[in-house]
Amino acid sequence: MKILLYNSLTKQKEEFKPIEKNKVGLYTCGPTVYDYPHIGNLLAYIFWDVLKRFFLSQGYKVKHVMNLTDVGHLVSDADEGEDKLAKAGRESGRTAWQVADFFIKVFKRNIKDLNILKPTHFLRATETIQEQIDFVSVLEEKGFLYQTSDGLYFDTSKLPDYGKLANLSQIKLQEGARVAKNPEKKNPTDFAVWKFSPKDGRKRDMEWDSPWGVGFPGWHLECSVMSQMMLGDTFDIHTGGIDHLTVHHPNEMAQSEAATGKLQANYWLHNAFNKVDGHKMAKSAGNFIILEDIKKKGYWPLAYRLLVLQNHYRQPLNFTWLALEAAQQSLKNIIREIAFYDEPKKVIAEFAEKFDAALADDLNTAKGLAVLQAVIDSDKPTADKLATILKIDEVLGLNLKEFRKNFLSLSSQAKKLLKQRSAAREKKDWDLSDDLREQLNKIGVEVQDTTQGQKAVQMK
Ligand code: AMP
Ligand code: ZN
Repeated sequence: MKILLYNSLTKQKEEFKPIEKNKVGLYTCGPTVYDYPHIGNLLAYIFWDVLKRFFLSQGYKVKHVMNLTDVGHLVSDADEGEDKLAKAGRESGRTAWQVADFFIKVFKRNIKDLNILKPTHFLRATETIQEQIDFVSVLEEKGFLYQTSDGLYFDTSKLPDYGKLANLSQIKLQEGARVAKNPEKKNPTDFAVWKFSPKDGRKRDMEWDSPWGVGFPGWHLECSVMSQMMLGDTFDIHTGGIDHLTVHHPNEMAQSEAATGKLQANYWLHNAFNKVDGHKMAKSAGNFIILEDIKKKGYWPLAYRLLVLQNHYRQPLNFTWLALEAAQQSLKNIIREIAFYDEPKKVIAEFAEKFDAALADDLNTAKGLAVLQAVIDSDKPTADKLATILKIDEVLGLNLKEFRKNFLSLSSQAKKLLKQRSAAREKKDWDLSDDLREQLNKIGVEVQDTTQGQKAVQMK
């Protein structure tokens, strides 16, 4: 099947052509593990999970690499200020290592809750320090670097098409707007590949010796290094949020191209941002939402996943609690529906094809969800409808199979009431049957009378 993806590099939808037949090399920029991931970060990983699942459903083997930034991402994206992890450590009386360990656990728990498949390789920046030093040595040998008082910088003017991803040459770069003023930088877009530890004798929690002095790698380096290590000089797809389009990705791409002379990745995909009540999510604005908040309010993480997939990945999502409530109701409706279906039989080709066509058009998940609803609304046998829905869900990842199983497992009290109701119906005692139905409803159990007897689902 022809798969179209919007490539930020060419600024158009393009047919996906893999480097190796039936294989996809996929790199996703991972989180900076200094705080709880907010729901915007998680939105990004939900979409890239669907992308990966879609390729898998189309018979591709997917090698997916994700980094965990546990060093080098400074408070300002322009290599200024404190390391985000060191700052979080200082503020909470922990070491940067403890901060990283804690938030890596949180991130892994969050992606599990959201039914996001684990990447093939999940690497911490601090696990590849030697490889990063080796990479910097290559850049140095090739003459792309210069040294300042605080580190080793990449000279972006040495790469004629630096910034091609975001058309940076056409954007008037105002120093101080995109990057903080650093008088030692030769060009405003230059960036650090190695930063020195403070010269005043203060020891950082995370620092390493290198040919240039004790310090730590620049933020962009780990992605160039890990992607090359795991996926080769050029791989198929690189993903990240739209914020990466102007700083992180051009820099990653520049380093990789400078080191290898080749394009780092053929397709660059970017998700739009998640807003809250129409505003940018920010701690200072008090609208910074994490998955734990969603769970605390009684919402399922997978209801958030559904909410995200109702939108296109290149359209900003405006999160509201009302929208999440509606998504949770929609998910409950789907589960309520399929819980009563017969065991899965045959996938209905017509719907499966429609679903694939929607996803193959630059990952149109909203259209894909409409196909799922059309299956439910159709008058096909429920066994075939269920087979089709479960197939579709292998890509959407709403974990409907598991939900169905859970919702069909009833408490002993519910089972007792159902038995009594069955007996009442045999005796044609409709009043008692209705009364028992009400009692079941009160404990969250819904009943349907089918040709094969009553069926019940525990709507928790
Ligand atoms: P970070 O931990 O800041 O490096 O971000 C992790 C990922 O989340 C990156 O791919 C970002 O581009 C993405 N991201 C950050 N904020 C948002 C947001 N509000 N909405 C969607 N994606 C985001
Ligand atoms: Zn990256």
